[in-house]
Amino acid sequence: MVTRLLHAPLLARRTRHGLVPPPQPQPARRRPPMAMLAGMSAAVAIASAFAPAPAGASSHAWQHVHGQARLMLGVEGKTGQAELRAAGDDVFGFEHAPRTASERDVQAKAFGRLRASGAQLIRFDPALGCTISARDVRMDTKPGAHGEVVATYQIACRVAPQGKPVRFGISAAFPGIDRVAVQLVSDTAQSGATISRDRGQLVP
Ligand SMILES: [Zn+2]
Repeated sequence: MVTRLLHAPLLARRTRHGLVPPPQPQPARRRPPMAMLAGMSAAVAIASAFAPAPAGASSHAWQHVHGQARLMLGVEGKTGQAELRAAGDDVFGFEHAPRTASERDVQAKAFGRLRASGAQLIRFDPALGCTISARDVRMDTKPGAHGEVVATYQIACRVAPQGKPVRFGISAAFPGIDRVAVQLVSDTAQSGATISRDRGQLVP
């Protein structure tokens, strides 16, 4: 019965006006060249996998592993996006909201370095002419949970970076981050790796 209902719109219907042809199947949607593309959609899917769980979900969804950051990297054509999430402790030594002028200063400096150092953290081949600009750097904090630093970046390259390895300098910039679980999605590849002390690469 369910199947019959689902398929019903595909069948010609006879009405008092005669035979009504079934609706034409929608032509395969062409991907808009610059908008949400297959790669970026998958990247967004990964991003939502990283996103905090809704209220009522297991508290485990909020727990990060100290020493291990997560990087989501999406590349499409000559552009891309990245999101780095790391324990506050690993980036500037604490995870609560800053309580003193000194803590505010430490956090502001770490945020400043995250904003300025996109191209050091995520290293495309210099020949590709990629710029990596910070879009947002903030704390993701919930009562009773560990505070997480979230830094998002916009990537724009002169030459499409597909097929060219991406390397990392995250532990070099933030020594408290020992490993980075990287998820990479591009319009031609999908891969993941745990990068330990910046050793290793991924190919978009
Ligand atoms: Zn923590």
